[in-house]
Amino acid sequence: MTYQRPQLRLAPSPTAESHAFWTGGRNGELLITRCHGCGHFFHPPGPACWRCRSTDVAPEPVSGQAVVAAYTVNRQNWIPGLDPPYIVAMVELAEEPDTRLMSNVVDVAPDAISIGMAVEVFFEDWTAMSGEEHSRVWLPLFRPVKPT
Ligand SMILES: [Zn+2]
Repeated sequence: MTYQRPQLRLAPSPTAESHAFWTGGRNGELLITRCHGCGHFFHPPGPACWRCRSTDVAPEPVSGQAVVAAYTVNRQNWIPGLDPPYIVAMVELAEEPDTRLMSNVVDVAPDAISIGMAVEVFFEDWTAMSGEEHSRVWLPLFRPVKPT
């Protein structure tokens, strides 16, 4: 099954805190906020670590390797241009399994995805619109790790 980019996606409107996350893909990097107080990653990005309350936090690149923790297959045509079926998944980062991202898993048939499947990040370049402002975002999407 070969992934075809949809005509449309609901692109995010990055905030100051999530800007790095949405634009790291420009350099092929998945940037996840890391706390320098306790060393843990966390997501979504925020001004303080939820574990130790340190505000010494900053985005850092991770490997982009992850596993599928939960998923659902959308079969409803909610968004014209984003054709079903597609897989909405929660993936756990290899670096920190309790750091989870909601994304789409592509390049896999809906009946072939499974919990625990190894996936890796790639990025899709989109223009986000919030009111009058346009900004480019690089959506992190995931696909199965190809056997080498
Ligand atoms: Zn911390």
